[in-house]
Amino acid sequence: MAGKVCPNCGQNTFFENPYGRKCTKCGYTMKISPNEGKGGCGKKCTNCGKFTVFGDKCRNCGAIYQKGKKNIG
Ligand SMILES: [Zn+2]
Ligand SMILES: [Zn+2]
Repeated sequence: MAGKVCPNCGQNTFFENPYGRKCTKCGYTMKISPNEGKGGCGKKCTNCGKFTVFGDKCRNCGAIYQKGKKNIG
């Protein structure tokens, strides 16, 4: 699958990861703040303990939260 265009080398090898974006070709990394730049903290993840739950998913450990219950894994 194709990634986004890397601002450093210009190839479509710029992939998102939980911590930001990284180019798999040249290794260029871009840190994006967790809430996609909107600011503020996420909710606390009961699985990993970090404030990285946005919407219904923890960006740190990937735990999925649904209304009233959580599914880990
Ligand atoms: Zn690159
Ligand atoms: Zn988590």
